[in-house]
Amino acid sequence: MCVTENMERLALGIDLGGTKILTAIISARGEILSRDYRATPVQEGPDGVVKAIVDSANVVLGQAGIAITDIEAVGIGAPGISNPDTGSILTSPNLPGWCNVPLRDMVADKLDIKCFLVNDANAAALGELSFGAGRGAHNFIYVTLSTGIGGGIVVDGRVYSGATGFAGEIGHMTIDDDGPLCNCGNKGCWEALASGSALETEARRWVEEGATTTILACAGGELDKVTARVVQVAAEQGDELAQKLIARTGRYVGVGLANLINIFNPELIVIGGGLSNMGDVLLKPAFKEAEERAYKASWQAVRFARAELGADSGVLGAAVFAFREGS
Ligand SMILES: [Zn+2]
Repeated sequence: MCVTENMERLALGIDLGGTKILTAIISARGEILSRDYRATPVQEGPDGVVKAIVDSANVVLGQAGIAITDIEAVGIGAPGISNPDTGSILTSPNLPGWCNVPLRDMVADKLDIKCFLVNDANAAALGELSFGAGRGAHNFIYVTLSTGIGGGIVVDGRVYSGATGFAGEIGHMTIDDDGPLCNCGNKGCWEALASGSALETEARRWVEEGATTTILACAGGELDKVTARVVQVAAEQGDELAQKLIARTGRYVGVGLANLINIFNPELIVIGGGLSNMGDVLLKPAFKEAEERAYKASWQAVRFARAELGADSGVLGAAVFAFREGS
């Protein structure tokens, strides 16, 4: 495809994660022209990560046969608390040691092009809104159930970013004031009760306490190999404790969903993330719990959809953000 001849608008999307970087050249219609995956060199600090981003950008430009001048803008989706106005990452659990890093300007200096920074979960919401399960919706919430819980809130067709850009941290709403400690330092956050790592922690605790279960055997007898996926395998093989733990996680998912439904009265909730791939065993108890807790009228107004873009939602949304902010 010769993109320079048909003058299609193009952006460069970057999905920066704690373990990998996905970079892609993306058209305004959401087509991915080229992509590059590479590990995030977190141990090399911001300078090393920026170098990896720039190298990756040059690879995707080369693959697509275009120059940086053919690109309208660059969108960077990054984890943690970032300020879209200043383009700085204030803090990020996935990027240890990063404090007030002016990531947007560091990348812009190296690539010599306009860059924009957006929170990764907000980027994923924007991706689903533009090209995925959220198409046509005006008020929806994107929930990613994964190692942690993230999300993006779309109000009247735009991602709601709050007064200073930090909105949408749905994983850190308090569900249990005396619940387990969360990575953020608070107790009983949604993420500390309903995420993949919460399920993993709970399963390990039961195994350590000597519960009758095949979970440890499914992990090859090694406690530190007990993961959410292992619990799922044990549950599928009929292990009762594993099934109970997943159902419990699902109920906590439902408590958080009910809160979101009552606060936002969304028309749609899009659910993505690796943990959601468990499907009914997790989501059935979640929906049952949410239905019991939410206002009936709001429950009747909401529909649920699975995220459609998979691992591409963040990079597509970062490109959408670049198109919107750059024009
Ligand atoms: Zn938290």
